[in-house]
Amino acid sequence: MKIMNAVYQMRQSIKLGVKVPLILLLGLLIGCSNKKGDQKEESPTSYYTMSDFQSLSKVDVHVHINVEKHTIIEEARANNFRMLVMAVDVVPEYPPMEEQLRVRQNLHQQNPDVFAYATAFTLEGWDEPGWSDQVIKKLAEDFDKGALGVKVWKNIGMEEKDKDGKLITLDDPKFDPVFKFIHSQNKVLLSHAGEPKNCWLPVEEMTVNNDRDYFSNHPQYHMYLHPELPAYEDHIEARNNMLEKHRDITFVGVHFATLEWSVKEIGAFLDRFPNAYVDCAERLSHLQVQTQKNRTAVRDFFIKYQDRIMYGTDFQELEDTVPAELKEHMYTTWMNDWKYLVTDEVMEVGWVNGSFQGLKLPKAVIDKIYRANAENVFPTAWDVGEK
Ligand SMILES: [Zn+2]
Repeated sequence: MKIMNAVYQMRQSIKLGVKVPLILLLGLLIGCSNKKGDQKEESPTSYYTMSDFQSLSKVDVHVHINVEKHTIIEEARANNFRMLVMAVDVVPEYPPMEEQLRVRQNLHQQNPDVFAYATAFTLEGWDEPGWSDQVIKKLAEDFDKGALGVKVWKNIGMEEKDKDGKLITLDDPKFDPVFKFIHSQNKVLLSHAGEPKNCWLPVEEMTVNNDRDYFSNHPQYHMYLHPELPAYEDHIEARNNMLEKHRDITFVGVHFATLEWSVKEIGAFLDRFPNAYVDCAERLSHLQVQTQKNRTAVRDFFIKYQDRIMYGTDFQELEDTVPAELKEHMYTTWMNDWKYLVTDEVMEVGWVNGSFQGLKLPKAVIDKIYRANAENVFPTAWDVGEK
């Protein structure tokens, strides 16, 4: 597990590392609006403004809380967000799965209005007979206690090996009974497959600064330098092979289904799998790069697939997280994302070189991305009475 865990950990550090410059940038940019959007057919009231962020009821479908801490929950509630909190099989950075679930069940019971969660399973005992049955038994217990879905992570495909030393892939038949069970219980399968495509490119061809910085400083994790390991396309293919076998399951491809580099590819994926959704967590910068080249294509993508895209951030709270820093990071991320999606202001963010213009999506599209799609995918989530 060590290599992948270190990758994950370093990425979180990078995230916090760019926080201050981002906040400064945001401060400088507010007021630098450059209104030149296309307000053709829609009336001005068809759009939200920066000041509508607070009052709109919103859902973040991609959050990690693994300790009994309340910073994210308090900030979410204060800013009108409900959340889907995901378990992930990342040890030792995250607590063991049993502890993660205990924490999540407690937080869910204490905060049923904002806190819903998805569970996960480990590949422990993979080579022993009955592995699938054991996993199904545990999932059944998790579902009884309130889990709404199951997350599979990139350790499948990149790290976990069977007894012969072969990497285990998501389309392995041994997973089939598990995924069938998830579907039979009307639960959702969420998947993080592989890494961003940048990981397989030379540093100078990478498209966003966080990937450039990280992989130049950590060549051991830069897949471009490790052609002996599976290619980017292998991870996508394994995920798609699995989905071909489970076409009816409700599926969420997190991080734009790892197709972040091309809105055309994300669209083709959504066309191919009608029960699939994507979240935008930690990957909006990749769409901002595409916006620089062809804003219309990106805007059309959001409008065409408005029923299939959900807002998510990948915020996480760990034992050593400093609450004040996390709050700043959350606020900056929310404001940058909102500005990009609802306004047509020319803006900059730390991870993208150069400026780009916001997409100014119509209110109806924003309502779906920020709330309605999540409520459709997780209809029993969030005990808030009337929705
Ligand atoms: Zn995540």
